[in-house]
Amino acid sequence: MQLEIKELTKTYSNGVRALKGISLTISQGMFGLLGPNGAGKSSLMRTIATLQEADSGYVRLTGLSDGTSMPGDLDVLTQKDAVRRVLGYLPQEFGVYPRVTAETMLDHIATLKGIANGRERKDIVDALLQKVNLYEVRKKNLGTYSGGMKQRFGIAQALIGNPRLIIVDEPTAGLDPVERNRFHNLLSEIGENTIVILSTHIVEDVTNLCSDMAIICLGEVVAAGNPNDLVADLKGKIWQTFVEKSEIATYRQNHRVISTQLKGGKTRIHAYSDLPLAGFDPVSPDLEDVYFAKITEKMDVVTV
Ligand code: ADP
Repeated sequence: MQLEIKELTKTYSNGVRALKGISLTISQGMFGLLGPNGAGKSSLMRTIATLQEADSGYVRLTGLSDGTSMPGDLDVLTQKDAVRRVLGYLPQEFGVYPRVTAETMLDHIATLKGIANGRERKDIVDALLQKVNLYEVRKKNLGTYSGGMKQRFGIAQALIGNPRLIIVDEPTAGLDPVERNRFHNLLSEIGENTIVILSTHIVEDVTNLCSDMAIICLGEVVAAGNPNDLVADLKGKIWQTFVEKSEIATYRQNHRVISTQLKGGKTRIHAYSDLPLAGFDPVSPDLEDVYFAKITEKMDVVTV
């Protein structure tokens, strides 16, 4: 099974070009879509989730056939109903009805997804509540849930009907570290036979979870591949030094600074260079360096 996205474009009515020809091939497993705010991640996720139209390009889900009546391939932009049957979607803004219990809400969503048999629905809902660790609080109103509990409820509703394609948009914003960790564990348990797209601006989420990824910026793909390979490409090219805050501007003028971070009162600078930089030490790159190198490169090209 694969999701093929080809030359996808989208311009909103206010003139913003949110997607400028996105092409990506996404295979089974956990795929990380990284990008700063405004990069176009949600626009791309909403398009794949059949919630908004693209201007041009295509999105195709291939290799779906499982011996049932399911067609082998789906054109995501036109066969929306069929796509919705295999889709689980956890949107960025996930509102819950505050006065409804988790159990009732999941039962309702399962009905909407076409699970007509009440007994079957109860089994599915109970199993999902156990899976996301909300079984004990299943009779509490959703309005009483914490942020992490709401996110886990969101995953439960996205998993109803055994989706083959799961889209999770910015899931860990606002979660404390314990809840975030629990959420990561839950995502990583989702079946092998599924495509999971995790859209986020948090590099660590991708480092921990994803075997394949892309970085998008200003509506374009600026990097794609296996995270370890992308990190390996930067080997020997990232240099580090510590400076006073007042010196940062000068360093930015003279070097390709990709990130600055306050560490114990000093500012740590990471710069990109093919050759050693005087006054800098070499460092082993990580995915954050990849992210910042790609983003700053793209932004520089645009602002020049
Ligand atoms: P991300 O999810 O990466 O933060 P978005 O897809 O939300 O990015 O936004 C991409 C660009 O499109 C931004 O400039 C944003 O302001 C703009 N945008 C998003 N949704 C709309 C909309 N409904 N109407 C107009 N502009 C929008």
